[in-house]
Amino acid sequence: MENVYAYIDANARDFVETLIRLVRQPSVSAKGEGIQECAELVEKIMQEVGLKTRIIQPTEGNPVVYGETKSKKSDKTLLFYDHYDVQPPEPIEQWICGPFSGEIREGKIYGRGASDNKGNLISRLKAVESFLKTLDEVPVNVKFVVDGEEEIGSPHLKQIIEKHRELFSADAIIWEFGGTNRRGNPCLHLGLKGILSVELRVEGAVRDVHSANAPLVPNPAWRLTWALNAIKNEKEEILIEGFYENVKEPSSAELHCVERIPFDEKEWKNELGLKEFLLKRSGTEALKALLYHPSCTINGMISGYTGTGSKTIVPRIAMAKLDFRLVPNQTPAEIFGKLVNHLRNSGFKDIKIIKFGSTEPAKTPVTHKFVQTVAKTAEKVYEKQPVIYPLSPGSGPMHLFRKIIGCPVVSVGCSHPESNTHAPNENLNIESFIRGTKFIATILQDFALS
Ligand SMILES: [Zn+2]
Repeated sequence: MENVYAYIDANARDFVETLIRLVRQPSVSAKGEGIQECAELVEKIMQEVGLKTRIIQPTEGNPVVYGETKSKKSDKTLLFYDHYDVQPPEPIEQWICGPFSGEIREGKIYGRGASDNKGNLISRLKAVESFLKTLDEVPVNVKFVVDGEEEIGSPHLKQIIEKHRELFSADAIIWEFGGTNRRGNPCLHLGLKGILSVELRVEGAVRDVHSANAPLVPNPAWRLTWALNAIKNEKEEILIEGFYENVKEPSSAELHCVERIPFDEKEWKNELGLKEFLLKRSGTEALKALLYHPSCTINGMISGYTGTGSKTIVPRIAMAKLDFRLVPNQTPAEIFGKLVNHLRNSGFKDIKIIKFGSTEPAKTPVTHKFVQTVAKTAEKVYEKQPVIYPLSPGSGPMHLFRKIIGCPVVSVGCSHPESNTHAPNENLNIESFIRGTKFIATILQDFALS
């Protein structure tokens, strides 16, 4: 690895330049901004690294950029899943520099996507380049699948993976995100929760009506409130019939990992201005709830007059947006069906339920050999105990790869806790970026030998 590490150190400046080039190309999937241009730039950077590339254009939706390079002596294949699309940069006035400027300040590269996910993508591509430029080969076959719709729920990825099952076949997958915690320990994430997003809509009269008519005119805001009340109670219990019946409890190996995750709850509560977490949860119990409890969240509600002063009307319409975070082995289809039945059986036939994006939960067992390999590599590169999250509270299309490609998936990356992903002033610490590149290079080597 000596030569490879030396190449990474000698070319760090150039790696940073490449990342800045990519950050400067906006690629906001929510607004369809700069997508095609960014896909082409990713393909160009892959070609500069020495990969064979192709752009996979689905009938609808954003292209996936694919790249690969073959090993001369190994049959094993490691696939990297990344994405080139980014979250919208708003609120722009809260940025200390332009959100697509790629400016460097105090050792950090600023810009939307610097960490999520362009930084991780470039660190992986440069790890591969470092092998190709120094040894003229990679230790294992390498594949890149770079999504253009991750930040909007990857609506077309399933159709693409099913169609290209052979092309995407692999023995193990490194997922898109990760980094070190505040204490400098590298973190491994082995799974993701699922998600189901819905909208509930109640309509009353054809227009807002004077509230003097309230004894006769149905009020959609009250109907919605009662319906929501039938979905969850004050003890945080979800009341939908059969909601918990498929929940698989974590294994003892998983619980062992959870107990070892450092949890700075005081710091977190301070940052959020909270005296207590919900239900006074604390310590390992809080962490277990965060990772293993499914949840139902009202994301937003709107109805009637909400301006200054008062206005005496019965509103025409009421609407709420909800998300359900799901754990193994719940599925969005199952939960949506149960929600529809539950509202119908509770007397809310009049409520319209609209389904939005959804993904299934997924995880790789903590005892899997690939997990052990990545954990050992992490400890070697960072000289600190790795922290293993058997499941993460976030969501993503990991289940598609687990199910269709059928290999282990581990998420590690080069971010740091102050990366501000999805928030104003997203950035990537250059030191973390370069060390993350060495980490990925070492994974390639250790995976070949495992
Ligand atoms: Zn993201």
